Amino acid sequence: MSDPIIPPEPVAAPSRAQGRKSIRPSAQPRELMTPVPDLKNVWKAQVITLLPGAFPGILGESLTGKALQDGLWQLETLDLRSFGIGKHRNVDDTPAGGGAGMVLRADVIGPAIQSAQAGAPQNRPLFYLSPRGRPMTQQMMQDLARADGVTLLCGRFEGVDQRVLDHFGMQEVSLGDFVLTGGEIAAQALIDATVRLLPGVLGNASSTEEESFSAGLLEHPQYTRPAVWNDHPIPEVLMSGHHGRIAQWRREQSENLTRIRRPDLWAAYQSGKDDDRA
Ligand code: SAH
Repeated sequence: MSDPIIPPEPVAAPSRAQGRKSIRPSAQPRELMTPVPDLKNVWKAQVITLLPGAFPGILGESLTGKALQDGLWQLETLDLRSFGIGKHRNVDDTPAGGGAGMVLRADVIGPAIQSAQAGAPQNRPLFYLSPRGRPMTQQMMQDLARADGVTLLCGRFEGVDQRVLDHFGMQEVSLGDFVLTGGEIAAQALIDATVRLLPGVLGNASSTEEESFSAGLLEHPQYTRPAVWNDHPIPEVLMSGHHGRIAQWRREQSENLTRIRRPDLWAAYQSGKDDDRA
């Protein structure tokens, strides 16, 4: 895949149009391509980032890449640098009150968010990727897959000016309890986990219904041929052809794994079962 980025689509602020690109993986060189208009009613991820070259990244590969090419979802990056201030397009400054590092400026992020939201449908939530955020969950991805898309702000350095988060009422979401150098990997994880839930993206829709977290449990172990590998056979029940016994075995495995590995999920699962009975 040579150059996945096509020329920018038109936006309201002409001086900043260069910062906005729709992305579809393609074998065509850029100069042979024409701008792709927004696809109506197609789930769209907008990513505000200092590193637009990091997209589509892994999202351009395999199932998500094919789905992007087929127009099952859309990706747009907004280059934060093009919203920068002055000749040098400054985007950051030192923290008020002192301390290490740099903070992304509110007067740079603000216009970028406004540009992303111009003409956007109502139901496209605005998230800031942040280690302080709510940890990402499968439920979050299921909700997002039912929205019209998502707008994601990727931080860098020490993060972004708090006022911009407050002003736009941004929800903060985290990839986990660790610190990345920027929000881009977290954004790609969120987009990947959501796009695979969109209709038509996975060949087999039932695979998203049975997998980890969907029923509040971790998935049972999986096996495939050869029937014996390094003296380890596939569990006999899976070779029995007895669907009832197989389903029961899988359920028991799921429950055991969840109970041992994730007491938090197990407790939630059990209280859910209690609610069902009530
Ligand atoms: N000083 C901040 C960390 C900044 S890391 C703090 O201590 O909270 C730089 C950027 O990386 C953040 O602005 C955020 O966008 C992104 N980032 C870092 N860790 C992340 C995580 N666990 N989940 C999502 N985004 C993260």
